[in-house]
Amino acid sequence: MKNKKDLIEKIKKERTLVLIKPDGVERGLVGSIISRFERAGLRIVGLGIVKPSKKLIDKHYPKTKEWIENLGNNLLRTAEEFQIEIDLKKDYKVNNTYELGLKIRNWLIDFMSSGPIVKIALEGVHAVKIVRKLVGKTVPFLAEPGTIRGDYSIDSPILANLEERPIKNLIHASGSPEEAEYEIKLWFKEDELIE
Ligand code: GDP
Repeated sequence: MKNKKDLIEKIKKERTLVLIKPDGVERGLVGSIISRFERAGLRIVGLGIVKPSKKLIDKHYPKTKEWIENLGNNLLRTAEEFQIEIDLKKDYKVNNTYELGLKIRNWLIDFMSSGPIVKIALEGVHAVKIVRKLVGKTVPFLAEPGTIRGDYSIDSPILANLEERPIKNLIHASGSPEEAEYEIKLWFKEDELIE
């Protein structure tokens, strides 16, 4: 075991990034969403409202082949579930799953830079996992009641794919402590965060 005191400190001070997406701000849900995190016992260590540039959003979302292909696969899975035949070339003007994922990533860049978003850095034990639990699953009809997405969002993945835009699910939350560290540095200057 490393220095026990340091480990305890590290565990108590795990941080994560939450973004309330333009749909959440437009619907006036900022207060309700923030209160969910406060209610759970997480501390707000950074908070702001910004209209991000496309460049910032491009830096925010991963560029790995795995993440991009996963987006493409999400769309194909949804089409299969709703029994809609997809011709990648004809319907989305792409050649493969990776290019399809890139297309969804571009929808995200356009949508996330289309209006103000609220950035929140949260701190607390297991902050990353706790926040993901409170936020709920990506697709609103799969997000459990009691989660933020489950309680406040109703958008459909099949509709989003047909309308060529991201699923409106109100929130982004970091997926891992490493992702959180990168994202918090990207969205906040050091002096904007409370120790
Ligand atoms: P998250 O971590 O739950 O936000 O989900 P991901 O990291 O997998 O995806 C990022 C965002 O892309 C999601 O929050 C959705 O807004 C959007 N998205 C994910 N999958 C799809 C999809 O299959 N179709 C569309 N239109 N948008 C998607």
